[in-house]
Amino acid sequence: MLTKTPNQCWEEFVDCIQDFCSATEFHNWIAPITVAPESAETLVLVVPNIFVQEYLLTNYEKQLLNFLPVNGKGKLLVEFRVAESKKVAPKVKAPPPKAVSHPSLNPNYTFDSFIEGPANQFVKSAALGVARSPGRAYNPLFIHGGVGLGKTHLLHAIAHHITRHNKRLKIQCITTEGFINDLVDHLRNKSVDKMKRYYRTLDVLLVDDIQFLQSRLNFEEEFCNTFEALINQHKQIIITSDKPPGQLKLSERMVARMEWGLVASVGIPDLETRVAILQHKAEQRGFPLSSQLAFFIAERIFNNVRQLEGALNRLAAYKGMMGMDLNEEIVESTLGELFQTVASGRVSVDNILKSVATIFGVRISDLRGSSRSKGIAFPRQVAMYLAKELINESLMKLASAFGGKTHSTLLYAWKKISQQATSDERLQRQIQIAKRNLESL
Ligand code: ADP
Ligand code: MG
Repeated sequence: MLTKTPNQCWEEFVDCIQDFCSATEFHNWIAPITVAPESAETLVLVVPNIFVQEYLLTNYEKQLLNFLPVNGKGKLLVEFRVAESKKVAPKVKAPPPKAVSHPSLNPNYTFDSFIEGPANQFVKSAALGVARSPGRAYNPLFIHGGVGLGKTHLLHAIAHHITRHNKRLKIQCITTEGFINDLVDHLRNKSVDKMKRYYRTLDVLLVDDIQFLQSRLNFEEEFCNTFEALINQHKQIIITSDKPPGQLKLSERMVARMEWGLVASVGIPDLETRVAILQHKAEQRGFPLSSQLAFFIAERIFNNVRQLEGALNRLAAYKGMMGMDLNEEIVESTLGELFQTVASGRVSVDNILKSVATIFGVRISDLRGSSRSKGIAFPRQVAMYLAKELINESLMKLASAFGGKTHSTLLYAWKKISQQATSDERLQRQIQIAKRNLESL
């Protein structure tokens, strides 16, 4: 038995969650829900479509249980009814297909302005391949990697290239949020079919940040349908994500589709590439930056290209205001808080591996492994050198922490790196950064 009327329960719930969500969210998702007159012990909610119901249940489960009637087992006594379309008030004009018609591409994100290095060579050439022969190279192309490493840049570069060289192709570049918002707008205006038709006529679909599709069940299904319809007609799809497909919390069906084509990652650019990026961006702005200062900055900001740009902006502002020439001291005081250090803790082989992996753009597991390729073996030797220099432990113990190496391997590495560092400036610098990171723990 209810002590409050269903309407009161619902109103209290609405009052409460108004504080939890943004005004837009409220307007799109909560306001359209009404209580059906036949509500008795079970509350009957009238929703404009199934997505609204889904949204409510997945996002506000706890609050629903607190406010709405539940049965003896604590299950919600709520039913949903999808409103009949004729009840929908006067004909609302479908929203202009804003995100749909014109790709909003950043004009600066082109292949020409994308600086290549060992960590992104592969993904760049995959992107170029797709841009040159859409639908025929790899389909879909799935690009993943950490924040600020150039995923959106590459996505837009593909779109620019196709727009320029293949004018007849109909292309759409959209963020996952944009796709969801589009779908919501069309649902509200009962024009989903129109949207579906539109998407199915595309030749190239580029979707940024697919991770935002996670836990948006119904949208995921709609996206997956669009995806399959396009792929089946050999239309090109390019997707970016902050994680590889297998790590996304999406349905198996969706993950399998995304793994159909080529999965490529953007890695953290190594020191030289970071310097080249800084110098390229500085040049674009007509901002003089000596290579000494570029190294100074790139050594201290090492895992996010966007932050390198932020650093340049700050320096440009400083220079503009103070009209002074920059030097290391000024750079240090202007950018100090952007400079990175490794998280605190005692110096350990683990910390060393982490730091070396970041500086050289390799994986920790590779450093511990046995690959003899130069790109891995050299950073591994640097890590071993640092371990001997910074950790007061027996060689045997240290060696075993490197995935079971022998003490003579470690000693050999230490000798080799010590010797090479006397004449190799770049190596000196790399060791210096690692040491600074580790000693500030
Ligand atoms: P993500 O989408 O991976 O978070 P973005 O593509 O937005 O990252 O890149 C962040 C910024 O860094 C952009 O301004 C982009 O131009 C720049 N950037 C990233 N990688 C490179 C690169 N290899 N060369 C030039 N600029 C880059
Ligand atoms: Mg991005």
